[in-house]
Amino acid sequence: MTRATPIRSIAPDNPDAPALIEAAEILLAGGLVAFPTETVYGLGADATNPEAVARIFSAKGRPSTNPLIVHTDGPELARRCVSHWSEAAETLARHFWPGPLTLVLPRSALIPDLVTGGRDTVGVRVPDVPVARSLISRVGRPLAAPSANRSTGISPTRAEHVSQALNGRIDLILDAGPTAVGLESTVLDLTSDPPRILRPGPIQAEALSLTLGRTVLERHALTFEHNLDEPAASPGLMAIHYAPRTLAIRVEPGEPIPPLPSADRIAVLSIGPAAEAFGPFGVRLRIDLADPKRAARVLYDALHHCDASGAELILVLMPPDLPDWAAVRDRLLRATQPA
Ligand code: AMP
Ligand code: MG
Repeated sequence: MTRATPIRSIAPDNPDAPALIEAAEILLAGGLVAFPTETVYGLGADATNPEAVARIFSAKGRPSTNPLIVHTDGPELARRCVSHWSEAAETLARHFWPGPLTLVLPRSALIPDLVTGGRDTVGVRVPDVPVARSLISRVGRPLAAPSANRSTGISPTRAEHVSQALNGRIDLILDAGPTAVGLESTVLDLTSDPPRILRPGPIQAEALSLTLGRTVLERHALTFEHNLDEPAASPGLMAIHYAPRTLAIRVEPGEPIPPLPSADRIAVLSIGPAAEAFGPFGVRLRIDLADPKRAARVLYDALHHCDASGAELILVLMPPDLPDWAAVRDRLLRATQPA
């Protein structure tokens, strides 16, 4: 595919938009369509068509061992993707869907090997954007949809980000403006006992635990036991991910700021309740994000800006290691190197 990828503007809450007809036709024919969800833009393909799914991996340059999340228009289609729909799945789906929670469950025969990287489990979720669900309904099949970026790059929260990364490599981009949540879904493994978070996200362990009435294991500080060449238990565990092209270093709260290039050559991303209080100032670009929800929403956009600023170094001043910041910290730990 070498022609420029068309971008169609669409209202996030208009399930009858004509562009959805075009998008559904492309998907049914085995093509790739980037579409908005509440988390990040997804790169969708018919999850039941192995050739279509293979195109996702080649467009992204994604290792084939990395499983893809399957998106459905509701719990009914999600249940057809799994072989055993547990009581816990039912409770969580009722409470959190549509929403940024992916449930990992035993997979059914509907889901080919390629989607799950050969695993006998599948991650399923229902996105909280009406046009995304309407698109899936029109296709009538589950859509495999990882984030619509090149593998290991910064995730897309705007259609422009998708276009910058994948123009000419995919068939269509649906543009519904910036995404509302901005960070990838929480991934919860319901095949382990107790249930275990594989990737921290917008829905925290405490909320899951309260809803289920039982313990949910958090994934504690990264152990980076996997690298890019190994099949990770979950690709969210990869040490390098979500990374800008520019060298990005992180400084934890209370740590001294290391020697830096001159101020006009650095971009500073200061995150956490004390964001504005941190130096250095007078830099090429400075973005302060003090509130966890807002930081989640604009984190990737901020990283894209830092990358495009022409800075030779991005200095990330980290938020504190507290539950409210877990998902943002998780992404930043992978996007940056220690100072
Ligand atoms: P991405 O599609 O780039 O948002 O990444 C996919 C995420 O889905 C990974 O970080 C995994 O944590 C998760 N995932 C999807 N399917 C599975 C599965 N079968 N087992 C474990 N993790 C999964
Ligand atoms: Mg991704």
